[in-house]
Amino acid sequence: MAERFGGWTGKNLRVDLGRGQVWTEPSLELGCRYIGGRGVAARIAWEEVPPGTRPFDPANRLIIAAGPLTGTSAPNSSRTTICTLSPQAYPFEWFTYSSIGGFWGPMLKYAGYDTIIIQGRSPEPVYLWINDDRVELRSATRLWGEGIGGTQREIMRELGEDVRVMAIGPAGENLCRISTIGTGAGSAAGQGGFGAVMGAKRLKAIAVRGTGEIPIAHPEAFSDCTLAIAQAAEAPAGCPRRQSLDPELVAQYGQRFSACSQQCAYPRCHICRAYDGVPGVLHPDKTYSGQIVCVSSLLGGEPGSFYDWKTGFRAGFELGRISDDYGINHWELCIGLVPWLRRCHQEGLLRDLDGVPFDLDSPQCWARLLHMIAYREGIGDALAEGGVRAAHLLGMGEELIPDSYTAWGFAGHWDGRGDRANLIVFPYWLVTALQWAVSTRDPMSSGHGYAQNIMMWSPMRSPGEGLDWQELADVGEKVYGTRQAVHPLSGYEAKAYPAVFHGHRSVIKDSLTLDDQAYPRIYSKRTPDHLARAGDMPGPSFEYHMFRLATGLDISELEFEQLAERVFNLERCLQIRNWGRSRTVDEQVIPCFERVENWVNPFLGEGKGLDRDRFASLLDEYYALRGWDPATGRPTRRKLVDLGLADVAAALDSELPL
Ligand code: SF4
Repeated sequence: MAERFGGWTGKNLRVDLGRGQVWTEPSLELGCRYIGGRGVAARIAWEEVPPGTRPFDPANRLIIAAGPLTGTSAPNSSRTTICTLSPQAYPFEWFTYSSIGGFWGPMLKYAGYDTIIIQGRSPEPVYLWINDDRVELRSATRLWGEGIGGTQREIMRELGEDVRVMAIGPAGENLCRISTIGTGAGSAAGQGGFGAVMGAKRLKAIAVRGTGEIPIAHPEAFSDCTLAIAQAAEAPAGCPRRQSLDPELVAQYGQRFSACSQQCAYPRCHICRAYDGVPGVLHPDKTYSGQIVCVSSLLGGEPGSFYDWKTGFRAGFELGRISDDYGINHWELCIGLVPWLRRCHQEGLLRDLDGVPFDLDSPQCWARLLHMIAYREGIGDALAEGGVRAAHLLGMGEELIPDSYTAWGFAGHWDGRGDRANLIVFPYWLVTALQWAVSTRDPMSSGHGYAQNIMMWSPMRSPGEGLDWQELADVGEKVYGTRQAVHPLSGYEAKAYPAVFHGHRSVIKDSLTLDDQAYPRIYSKRTPDHLARAGDMPGPSFEYHMFRLATGLDISELEFEQLAERVFNLERCLQIRNWGRSRTVDEQVIPCFERVENWVNPFLGEGKGLDRDRFASLLDEYYALRGWDPATGRPTRRKLVDLGLADVAAALDSELPL
């Protein structure tokens, strides 16, 4: 245990909605062993979510967690990680994670809490009010039915403008499996269907005010370190973190970059833009203000792309406000559900939406679709289950689902198939395929580190601005131990270790909590060897140094990495114990990747599909690196004991003897 700890507040908040009780418990021991955020949630789930528990059961735990860096001066450190059983995941409703931006997480830390663990179901709609060390459950009956935006405004009017609120909308109240939890002007825990878990618990919102400070073990060194890391931020031209504004939208609606995280080190990040006074199309008497975050821009359509519906900027912005207020997952909507519905329509399987002509150029059609999903009306009742379940329920277009959905009930993301927005080519999607194979959801929300970085720094997305293929491979050698991990002609060689590496990075980001887009820092145009650096700190070590200086935990970088490996293995054991996860389950991703990729590697000149046998060898390599049994994909007892999980190994062996 650290002599002088910092980063963590030292307290977790427990809430039992069924009994209407709240209490606190120490958080330090869990933090030191599992970092925070997603890591701490995995341990709580292992101990408190037995096999057979379902997402809407009162026994399900809803865990809302910050980490030791949340709310500190660490760049891009204000995310919150939410973990629970996923209504959206298919065919297993397994325990998974979803990250939300905005400024709610820091406020929880300033109020003195690292994690909130919520169990039970309230007899009546309530919201949780955390006012530093005063915590209470308040009636939310009058807020039930209200949108996420309206709920925030109402609670802030009641409690004060300095309060931060996360809330659900009608989609979450109606247990839509693709519903979100939202905060601020556009941030959401989008993937996983977690809004429905809050709805099932009749928990409408969580409001927090914190006036305290976060202790830092080595304040001066930490401040120097975080400043250096912020100043070292750079992004290549083709990267979303370095874009320019549209002069017309600037003139008309005050378009501006608007960071979705505290301490954001990327002032020109395109992922998050704000607008004011955008006149409505569906409601011409209204004007709208708010943010477009990430995929929400596709609601307006993208001319010349796969997502070329002609709703237009104004209608797209309005539909974004409407769906944010309902609390509907934009990634599922734009990358999965709507492309699938369009295919069904093109194939003559779907004529209209309960009488409204199916026309994606029509904002009215979209508005009808969103309403039907949020209120489970007509075909919307099936669509609220998410695309994969809807196809089965409706007996419509099941064969078309793989066009948009990659695995586990989630639409494609950096897979080179379902995701037609992010250009990626062979061999780089082999690492993505491994990440999807062992994930419980779309792994890219905190797993962009390999694929996006290479594509964005490469001549394919940043010709003349990024790095050339040789420079990329040089850096690959430093980070992954071989040039073959990054070389465009490397095929199946050296793809297992990057998947292991970025699996741990994903845990680290979701546990510290840091923004996925800003870490790990790998490539640079400013350093002689093109490896990112801040002073003498190599980029991939930034997270470790910030953790060590903030918490005071005197561990080596390898030991820090092993904390992440411990969490990754604990999550795997939970999946094995509760849902019988195995190699056979992992291999369910193969058919998706056997399809020929969307784009072509210019060095190869032809599109590639996955070679099942070669991928099987790659999976062998991956399991071996992980210390997992190659036949079953189960962590070996030796590996679990080495990671300090002897109790988990014993429980697994007794409950599921080999
Ligand atoms: S860099 Fe990250 S935190 Fe900053 S605006 Fe972009 S997505 Fe948000």
